[in-house]
Amino acid sequence: MVAELISVGTELLMGNIVNTNAAYLSKELTAIGVSVYYQSTVGDNKERLKAAIETALQRADVIILSGGLGPTADDLTKETAAEALGKKMHLDERSMNRIREYFQRIHRKNITENNWKQAMIPEGATILDNHNGTAPGILMEEKGKTVILLPGPPNELKPMFEESVIPYLQKSNPKVLYSKMVKVCGIGESHAETMIKDLMDAQTNPTIAPYAKTGEVHFRVTAMADNEKAGKELVKPVVKELKRRFGDAVYTTKEEVTLEEKVVKILKKHGLTMVTAESCTGGMLASKLINVSGVSEVFKAGLVTYANEAKKQILGVRGKTLKKYGAVSQETAEEMMLGAVERYDADVAVSVTGIAGPDGGTPEKPVGLVYIGCYVCGEMAVYECHFTGTREKIRETTVIAALNLVRKMLLNLD
Ligand code: ATP
Ligand code: MG
Repeated sequence: MVAELISVGTELLMGNIVNTNAAYLSKELTAIGVSVYYQSTVGDNKERLKAAIETALQRADVIILSGGLGPTADDLTKETAAEALGKKMHLDERSMNRIREYFQRIHRKNITENNWKQAMIPEGATILDNHNGTAPGILMEEKGKTVILLPGPPNELKPMFEESVIPYLQKSNPKVLYSKMVKVCGIGESHAETMIKDLMDAQTNPTIAPYAKTGEVHFRVTAMADNEKAGKELVKPVVKELKRRFGDAVYTTKEEVTLEEKVVKILKKHGLTMVTAESCTGGMLASKLINVSGVSEVFKAGLVTYANEAKKQILGVRGKTLKKYGAVSQETAEEMMLGAVERYDADVAVSVTGIAGPDGGTPEKPVGLVYIGCYVCGEMAVYECHFTGTREKIRETTVIAALNLVRKMLLNLD
């Protein structure tokens, strides 16, 4: 099934608003296996809008228009679409009542004449209820084509699309989509893509789509098939091959599982407790872990030791070490990690110390230099990492890297 999007609004053409509706609709349509071949944007102009609809009718099965359904004179999507399909308009009782109720609900007494314009419906059209505004959506079928009109405001369009349009399209599109997410951490985006370039180039069904996240790359493998079982069969060998190539950089193939959840899961599995000792990430690592519900079983403490004084007092980092090697050093990271283990008698500890910038870098210790210490049941390692970007980005990337490094060390326990 092929869909085409037409976004209506002079504001869009003039760049006053960003066309988030088109991005949203395309993404949602792709996710349910409907292909989008064209998107266009037209101003509030009857002739040009009609021409755009006529063109779309020639090359798509489903045409989705957004915007211009409101009560004002420049809102002409409905009339124009009805005209393009050769349908007359009539006043719809039910829509009139809904508009009346809506105004009562928001405590507005004076319904102006032009509001009733929204109750004018093309013949034979299906009305899509709008729970967040007055303009009803419209669905028209004509000669094997479907034309769907949605209101412009995203808070009205999205619920309507999810509630009414998705079920409609899924019913008319007999194919199902099955997808798996391969989540990779510790390999940069472009390197990861190069590693599977041949697979990406050859993809048809299933398709492989990369999504870059901070410190991670996710690959969605999607197959279109007659049923879920057939979809699974198509996806399985591709996921297997991705796992083979990326090895233990893959931490999950489940869409909903996050890196921190994975770490907590492994800790629980082995009955291990964990502490964190952070400097430049200032508690972000602990906060990520605490996002996971049920983490209290394994997480003992998150220490934020920013000043040297705190590193000494709370973690027992030696003044000598700080003086000789500096706060951002392998030695300090190691003592931070060991101090935290000792203080809380934990099985696992992660320490972080680095220069998040933008100030404070030197030629020997540039901005982005981070040491991450990982201690897992007596095994330990300190990793030197070099990150780039803003202060915030460096701190976020550090947290992901720390979680991933400790995850990898935990894998050795198996
Ligand atoms: P209304 O009843 O509010 O007039 P409408 O269906 O007539 O709704 P428009 O008048 O075209 O829609 O747009 C109303 C508002 O919705 C715009 O000012 C804008 O904030 C938002 N909007 C419209 N189209 C888009 C779009 N494509 N992407 C994001 N926002 C949009
Ligand atoms: Mg409007």
